[in-house]
Amino acid sequence: MTAAVLVVGSANADLVVATDRRPAGGETVLGGDTQILPGGKGANTAVAAARLGADVALIGAVGDDAHGRLLLDSLRDSGVATDRVRVVDRPTGAAYITVTPDGENSILVSPGANHALTPSDAADPAGARVLVASLEVPLDVVEHAIACAAGAGVRTVLNLSPTAKLSRETLQNLDVLVVNEHEAAWLLEAGDHDGAHGGDYGSGDHGSDAGRLLDLGPRAVVITRGPEGALVATRDEQAGIDQVEVPSPQVTAVDTTGAGDAFTGALVTWLASGATVADAARRAVDVAAVSVTKRGAQPSYPLLDELS
Ligand code: ATP
Repeated sequence: MTAAVLVVGSANADLVVATDRRPAGGETVLGGDTQILPGGKGANTAVAAARLGADVALIGAVGDDAHGRLLLDSLRDSGVATDRVRVVDRPTGAAYITVTPDGENSILVSPGANHALTPSDAADPAGARVLVASLEVPLDVVEHAIACAAGAGVRTVLNLSPTAKLSRETLQNLDVLVVNEHEAAWLLEAGDHDGAHGGDYGSGDHGSDAGRLLDLGPRAVVITRGPEGALVATRDEQAGIDQVEVPSPQVTAVDTTGAGDAFTGALVTWLASGATVADAARRAVDVAAVSVTKRGAQPSYPLLDELS
């Protein structure tokens, strides 16, 4: 089966507990009831895109357990094709999330089944228009998926979250690199695996940071900027670097969990339907703004007809 958007990434059960304070080492603290929610950057991105009407498949892995079934149900309910989600002999990935009254999250991720993915799982882009990856799955899987997609003429998008040191070849195979401001600064300092640097630290000047990220190889860079929206930078052969500020609608945020995945899912949805990166980012800030006005990650993602 062919899906227009192929997502390579994680599926995790988010185990969320509200607590007045986090336990120190050796201490026990009583918190609230555990909420078990479908999450993981790959699954979130796939669900966000499917809810916007994209034809989406996820390449991922879950365990043969209750969390795995929860994730598969949530993906299928949203219309994500799961025939390339393998059920493996490891526990489903889990994110242990404590939330304090100030809204701050602390998250411990146990990758579990996500780390059973192998490069061969992601070798076939199978006629997709856009392949999008994130990094809660092994780096070699992501780099192989991007190389195979680029070789097959499929557009490639990477959300560099969490950060990982990429090969120069991978950076050069990217059509669109999506980073938040912290990831942008990290990448500028770390450079690629083969020793190239975009400069020193992130300068705090988003325009020049985006330009230096383009120097590492991707054809477009999107820096997400929380409530500020996003900055899109592309290299134009004639005019040099073209930068577009994409402001976010002003909303009252109640929970920003998974906002970055909502943004990426929306971005690839519009890229797959032929939009430019800047136009896709304009739609993505609208989608991500809706997502922060509701609790949770996947449950907060809008359907296409909920957008104004
Ligand atoms: P997260 O880790 O929370 O999923 P992130 O750190 O990857 O997100 P951000 O830049 O914080 O990335 O947010 C991604 C996008 O979500 C932003 O570009 C913006 O469009 C939207 N967004 C985030 N926070 C807000 C907010 N308070 N109001 C409106 N939009 C927001």
